Amino acid sequence: MDNIYELSAHEICKLIRRKEVSVEEVITSQFNRIEKVEEKIKAFLSLYKEEALDEARQWDKKISQGKKIPPLCGVPIAIKDVICIKDKLTTCASRILQNFRPPYSATVIDKIKNAGCIIIGKTNMDEFAMGSSTENSAFQITYNPWNRETIPGGSSGGSAAAVAGREVPIALGSDTGGSIRQPAALCGVVGLKPTYGRVSRYGLVAFASSLDQIGPLTRDVTDCALLLKIISGKDKMDSTSVNYPVPDYLEYLIPDLKGVKLGLPREYFVEGIEKEVREKVMQATKVMEDLGAEIEETSLPHTEYAIATYYLIATAEASSNLARYDGVGYGYRSKEKLDMIGMYKKTRREGFGDEVKRRIMLGTYVLSKGYYENYYGKAQRVRTLIREDFEKAFKKFDALITPTSPTVAFKIGEKIDNPLQMYLSDIFTISANLAGIPGISIPCGLGRNGLPVGLQILGKPFDEKTILRIAYAYEQNTEWRKMRPEI
Ligand code: GLN
Repeated sequence: MDNIYELSAHEICKLIRRKEVSVEEVITSQFNRIEKVEEKIKAFLSLYKEEALDEARQWDKKISQGKKIPPLCGVPIAIKDVICIKDKLTTCASRILQNFRPPYSATVIDKIKNAGCIIIGKTNMDEFAMGSSTENSAFQITYNPWNRETIPGGSSGGSAAAVAGREVPIALGSDTGGSIRQPAALCGVVGLKPTYGRVSRYGLVAFASSLDQIGPLTRDVTDCALLLKIISGKDKMDSTSVNYPVPDYLEYLIPDLKGVKLGLPREYFVEGIEKEVREKVMQATKVMEDLGAEIEETSLPHTEYAIATYYLIATAEASSNLARYDGVGYGYRSKEKLDMIGMYKKTRREGFGDEVKRRIMLGTYVLSKGYYENYYGKAQRVRTLIREDFEKAFKKFDALITPTSPTVAFKIGEKIDNPLQMYLSDIFTISANLAGIPGISIPCGLGRNGLPVGLQILGKPFDEKTILRIAYAYEQNTEWRKMRPEI
């Protein structure tokens, strides 16, 4: 078989179990594909070819000996470079961590390895996950496989582009304000941000601790359900992870929507959203209706405050989380001989990029004496109002349907000098992080310039199974999962 790289993870698992392909063949096919297209996509910051092949041969040996194998045995996976893997470069796409090798692995890494996944490399991102286009990486630009003049979204742009470009079937990203769902939408793949507390963040480099979550990027909903199950659950190393049963999500994937109540929040269909994006999302709701869903308009009245609230809370948390990069404990240190304060300053000036500096300054300001109550305190109270909007809506609806991003992928360079425009890319994804609820983005057609449009489904806390069910029913009754970029 020479097109193994086209297959989804669950298809690969089936073939390996039936011994129709070996794990080595899977990994070889994947690296052949990477060698062919990576030059054009630039999704990866590190690749582990030899190690991956070694691991593959070890699994093949176990399989030939008739040993029991784990659920995702032999599935290649890519990891956003914000998640620690022991002894492997973990840069967060920042100069300040360019030589950093963590002494331990994240819990999600242990979990996927125990499930049999083979890590093939680490993906590019916006520096410290701050951005919506992956252009804030200190190292390289990643190209959207659908059109190399456009960005792949961000900050998990490398993971999304690698999955869309068939360089890997599944990947992990992180989402603080949309960083899994928005690049998934712009690259035409599936991306899910779990409920706050669903997945351990031990070993995820912190950006904004009350918002960050790790989640899957995949090409279909089944793979998304599979990977989510593996990474979910309480972890004693992360006190914010919640001890709440993890269902077998696959059992909930049924191809109809009978009895499902869906709300369309009117604040998500306002001016500024591209005509084609609105059209595609509305067409998708018709399909859902035909599948048995009841759909009604609803309102989340505090939506208009979400971006402002997010940029106070996220920057405040970032400014304290990033205080640890001082050139002492680890990471980059300026070469110049200076006194201690001078060394801190120079190190941070040289090590951080512009967007990260902007956030640190804003965050430090909103936390400063005399301003704290007016900015940070107020933002926290508005955050509660945003969460209550959702609580009210979920009394009536099982899930809410919105566009994921107001536009399709934009041109490289188009928004880089206009931070506010860039921030607006996340206008539809940020509220889910503020409210702590899960959200999934799935492809729902092609919009302007033939670029993918993403549909977002938002659910109740810890009710990932319902949004996966809705996503699956829609996916199975439409053709979008078959669309692929020509690269
Ligand atoms: N684009 C948003 C930001 O720049 C969200 C990023 C994220 O989810 N990590 O903060």
